[in-house]
Amino acid sequence: MPEVLEVESYRRLANRVVGSTITRGWADSLLAKKLHSSSSWARSVKNLTVTAASRRGKLLLLETSGPTLGVRFGMTGVLLLDGEVGIEGLFYGPHEYQSKWLRGGLEFDDGRKLLVHDPRRLARFEINPDLGELGPDALTLTRKEFDQLIRVDRGEGPAIKARLLDQSRVAGVGNLLGDEMLFRAGIDPRTPSGTLSAEERDRLFKAFRQTMKLLQRRGGSHLGDHMDARFPGGLCPIDGGTMLLSTIGGRTTYWCSVHQR
Ligand SMILES: [Zn+2]
Repeated sequence: MPEVLEVESYRRLANRVVGSTITRGWADSLLAKKLHSSSSWARSVKNLTVTAASRRGKLLLLETSGPTLGVRFGMTGVLLLDGEVGIEGLFYGPHEYQSKWLRGGLEFDDGRKLLVHDPRRLARFEINPDLGELGPDALTLTRKEFDQLIRVDRGEGPAIKARLLDQSRVAGVGNLLGDEMLFRAGIDPRTPSGTLSAEERDRLFKAFRQTMKLLQRRGGSHLGDHMDARFPGGLCPIDGGTMLLSTIGGRTTYWCSVHQR
């Protein structure tokens, strides 16, 4: 699933069409689902000039001379520019590209095309997407924003893994980034957010920033240190401990029975 790092690579690709004017937009009914119809997408985007490519979490934003265009990539969405792939082989994504999986796109006055390729059909186009539902961006998260993200008003709060996946708290952390930062911080993903000690919070913030920086440099969310042991019966690459798995926050979560407590 594309997480913040993958969508950031799509943003960089989309940045290359800044200054170009859209001559045609198309979308199949699923990609245009949030817009009610494919024709409303085609109508809305025609003749708009792209002025900037930005992003909030996993939501790609094309700013234009008119409305802001949003793209959500779902589980397997990939952005292509004239056949150039935004990122090499997404972990959960397809490793081959087929024209039947091109769901929609934009064509520009200079002949280039920006396309969404998505076998699982969960990607969506939006016009003026609501950013109010999204927390601060994971790539630039500050300590102050992190403290807000962890904060619990009443009781112990949800499991820290679930809290990290809550896009209204922080936008862009998906399943693999979430597991990697908890692995690096040595924290059990089931720990209620409100019970983390000051020292654990420090460790988690450090691991959060480190995970983003390091995996961006390595080239994707799927290149974390815990990945080698991410299968039932896997052994922790740090201490050889058995990796445990459970569904937390709706996603299959892996953690080490020895150093994540
Ligand atoms: Zn371990």
